[in-house]
Amino acid sequence: MKNVAVLGATGSIGASALDVIARHPDRFRASALAAHRNVEALAVLCERFRPDLAVIADASREAELRERLANARLATRIESGATALTEAASGAHCDTVIAAIVGAAGLESTLAAARAGKRLLLANKEAVVMAGPLLLAALREGGGELLPIDSEHNAIFQCLPAARAGLDGAGVRRILLTASGGPFRGKRREDLGAVTPAMACAHPNWVMGRKISVDSATLMNKGLEVIEAHFLFGAAAGQIDVVVHPQSIVHSMVEYADGSVLAQLGNPDMRTALAHALAWPDRIEAGVAPLDLMQIARLDFEEPDRETFACLDLAYRALGGAGNAPTVLNAANEEAVAAFLEGRLSFLAIAHVIESTMETAPGLSIDTLDAVLDSDLTARRVAQRMIASAKD
Ligand code: NAD
Ligand code: MG
Repeated sequence: MKNVAVLGATGSIGASALDVIARHPDRFRASALAAHRNVEALAVLCERFRPDLAVIADASREAELRERLANARLATRIESGATALTEAASGAHCDTVIAAIVGAAGLESTLAAARAGKRLLLANKEAVVMAGPLLLAALREGGGELLPIDSEHNAIFQCLPAARAGLDGAGVRRILLTASGGPFRGKRREDLGAVTPAMACAHPNWVMGRKISVDSATLMNKGLEVIEAHFLFGAAAGQIDVVVHPQSIVHSMVEYADGSVLAQLGNPDMRTALAHALAWPDRIEAGVAPLDLMQIARLDFEEPDRETFACLDLAYRALGGAGNAPTVLNAANEEAVAAFLEGRLSFLAIAHVIESTMETAPGLSIDTLDAVLDSDLTARRVAQRMIASAKD
């Protein structure tokens, strides 16, 4: 029996994870659930899964959560705040952690799970992008294992040999990250002037949280994933290529020196990656419909449009610059996307804000957690200035 802490339990990934967990009560138990501030959604999950620990990150809502669950007769301990989040990720109640908080807010709990040697199921790609070297050090220190949940990285994990001494040792030539192209594939810059948050969040193949939906629309999601692949698999920037594949059936590929290209295919449903990582090295039922290739009939591949979707190259640039450049990229992107979702920034200005923040924010060390947080905060301040003065 594996005890699983689900951080970001009320989100899109959280729901998929809990669906897989609920299908296998003999294998998995949700022993901790954590969410940001939605008391009702978290309370419903607590009643259903009866975890040992429930964490509401926003401490001002703890009393409300207690009151809401007062009559439920649960043995669940209720906590709040940042320390409780890291405890949820590292305490004895769990051996597996699903890191599915969105954005930099997930960094400390993700690091805590790694340091504690838990099996870390990583969805929170922003944590890897902003603090890749720290996360790798925490994994070495804790001696646990990281299994990627991001569908592309889960696919790559499945296409790489189990025991590998670096990509070169395994005969890997290239990683081919597939991208759906998002809701605006095929559009030109001049078509995107009046894009609204609702339009950007209407993804053709996946239903996801709002932040990652906007990232998919700008292609920054793929940019973040290039950096994620660099850290998770030790791939150089030049070894990672992006291929647009509108059907989202091939989740990514690995090309080997002998010309073989291994791909992982499946319906676009995050439960496949979650079930794979939860049960690995076993395989279990995920509730995902079987892939019907006759019905899909064709798979298309095309080049990304790097001019219209400038965020992809900004991510490559950040990876090439290394140091704190990925930290700055992530911070600027989070600020710009939040401003776009709140109607304070146009869609096309997202890339401008990120680019000018990268040019302006100072190069700082990211050797320690405090240094990462300092670099993140400094970049956010610069980005906020850029947003305030942004015109299209
Ligand atoms: P979401 O917005 O649906 O859910 C986010 C979750 O994080 C919620 O449970 C929310 O309560 C929690 N959260 C937000 N801010 C928090 C804070 N300050 N403290 C504590 N908890 C907080 O997002 P999502 O789509 O589930 O994505 C979650 C992560 O997984 C993101 O990093 C995303 O990039 C990654 N991811 C998502 C998908 C997908 O299909 N949704 C696929 C690959 C990777
Ligand atoms: Mg992905």
